Amino acid sequence: MKAAVLNSYDTTLGRSDFVVVAEVPEPKIKAPSDVIVRIGGAGVCRTDLHIIEGLWRDRVSVTLPYILGHENAGWVEEVGSGVTALKRGDAVICHPLLSNGATLAARRGNDMHAGGAFPGIDANGGYAELLATTERALVKLPQTLAPKDVAPHADAGLTAYHVAKKASRHLLPGEYAVVIGAGGLGHIGIQALRALCAATIIAVDRSPTALALARESGAEHLVTADGNEVAAVLDLTHGNGAEAVIDFVGEGSAIAHGLAMTRNAGFYYVVGYGGKIELPTMDLIVSEKTIVGNLVGTYPDLVELIALAERGRVRLATREYPLSQANTALHDLKDGKVKGRAVLIP
Ligand code: ZN
Repeated sequence: MKAAVLNSYDTTLGRSDFVVVAEVPEPKIKAPSDVIVRIGGAGVCRTDLHIIEGLWRDRVSVTLPYILGHENAGWVEEVGSGVTALKRGDAVICHPLLSNGATLAARRGNDMHAGGAFPGIDANGGYAELLATTERALVKLPQTLAPKDVAPHADAGLTAYHVAKKASRHLLPGEYAVVIGAGGLGHIGIQALRALCAATIIAVDRSPTALALARESGAEHLVTADGNEVAAVLDLTHGNGAEAVIDFVGEGSAIAHGLAMTRNAGFYYVVGYGGKIELPTMDLIVSEKTIVGNLVGTYPDLVELIALAERGRVRLATREYPLSQANTALHDLKDGKVKGRAVLIP
């Protein structure tokens, strides 16, 4: 089969070819619960760029070469002997983690902390024609949703929904939610917030394209990240800051700005990553702010997100690229040229 393979890291992201599209062996069923999915679409994610630059090298054990792609959807191609809920031809979206269902974390629904492989990060992923996954990771898609149109929901959407659900639990009408980074994840997070609560949503981004997408997605206020974004948000929130700040950037000045936009006793949610949180502990006790980490989402989160997508409450802006143009898609993402999410089609 054809696949886009990562052969070596590129710490400066300076190469023209990050991955190589090559012919590789097809994945095989190894255990009774295994499922092989024929990929309909694979989302291209900033995490893929972070993997290429070697940021994940010390976090996970993976040997190069391997296939990137952790935002996958498609059709069941082949099932193991123990699979009962799925058959060949079923349209499915893949929860990104192959969590071990017997662990306590999995039984509590915390798939992210239940061990198991993460295809595209520490095992072969979906920048390919076929992907090996398991029955437990698959959510059946309704007929109205095509795999290529929802593939990014497997991680980008799931992560955005997971954090929006957490934030919406304490966001009351009349309160404010700031979304920093209104692009790929942000535009989904805004729609999920709209579907789950009645807080006023403020989108912060330096890109006019991303802000336009934020407006279409339901943000009431748009703030350009031009260096004066903290003052602009304080102004919009009567000098208090927002009850929830969701930071989809997590790098550079976004972190300090995000914390400064969070009101006292409010919540700062970190989703994007790569930077460092540095603040005096005294500031934290005086302000009683809560800092919350977020990793992907649970299987039930994915089921709920697909229910929202089916009702048209969460729509994905996607741009399609053939699998053979994986490098173009990765570069367009790096250069901020993708509106919404890039999707590779084998
Ligand atoms: Zn992703």
